[in-house]
Amino acid sequence: MRTTAVLFALAALSPTPSTADPALDALVAAYPDHLARYQGNDLIWKDGTRMPIADGRAEKTFQQLIEQPDIKDQFGFRYPLGAEVKPPALNEDPGRIRFEPFFLKMYGDCRKGEVGKRLKPVAWMPKRGGGRLNVTTVNNVDERLAAVVQDLETLPAEMTKYLVPPAGTYNCRDILNTARRSAHAFGAALDINPKQADYWEFLRNRSGTFAWRNRVPGTIGEVFERHGFIWGAKWFHIDSMHFEYRPELIGLANQNKADRNDRPGIELSR
Ligand SMILES: [Zn+2]
Repeated sequence: MRTTAVLFALAALSPTPSTADPALDALVAAYPDHLARYQGNDLIWKDGTRMPIADGRAEKTFQQLIEQPDIKDQFGFRYPLGAEVKPPALNEDPGRIRFEPFFLKMYGDCRKGEVGKRLKPVAWMPKRGGGRLNVTTVNNVDERLAAVVQDLETLPAEMTKYLVPPAGTYNCRDILNTARRSAHAFGAALDINPKQADYWEFLRNRSGTFAWRNRVPGTIGEVFERHGFIWGAKWFHIDSMHFEYRPELIGLANQNKADRNDRPGIELSR
């Protein structure tokens, strides 16, 4: 009873008790340099900019989610954390849905020269001859990637062939066969060695379908996830060389994991 009373008291103090949303909480927490809070249907940036969270359109098809998403749609698929990589359900692409204005505002527009000046070279697998990769300094992505590299270099030597040589990072381009900006255009994504990787567009047969497969070990993905990067091997539309900095999805997934571990039923059954 006392706990209930405390919870009610806390709810009364909170400025937006009825609109608390774990996904939006994760979003604001993931980008502390840029985002201030959310209120109603507005995501409020630290510079005062307001962006609509939901566009109010009813049920979208998968193609509409990919081509015309809103901020809320980015969280439509739950990102599965961990080294175990299972074939996702049809169209299950957590992180592939991106509301472009959000990323343009945060990282800049490469076509206006706003991204290039924020890039910094990071040594990629220096102990294994990986060269350098240019990534953005926005959200300290360069430092996060350096932390990934430090962890990856503790992995056994047989992992090197998946990582070196890398296929690149920053590239001011659209996604293949689309008019949508690639995550690489923001300097916050990188591709490891394509020789060991699979991309759904290249797996497609003449009828347009494809058999999902992944050959990159999950231990590599798990290292990236630890530092806020999602992995394209967790997508139905697989892109297993691709990693991008999406701490909001990792944060929400960690939160869901913690909630599951907190369930009293699970505690009691141990
Ligand atoms: Zn990529």
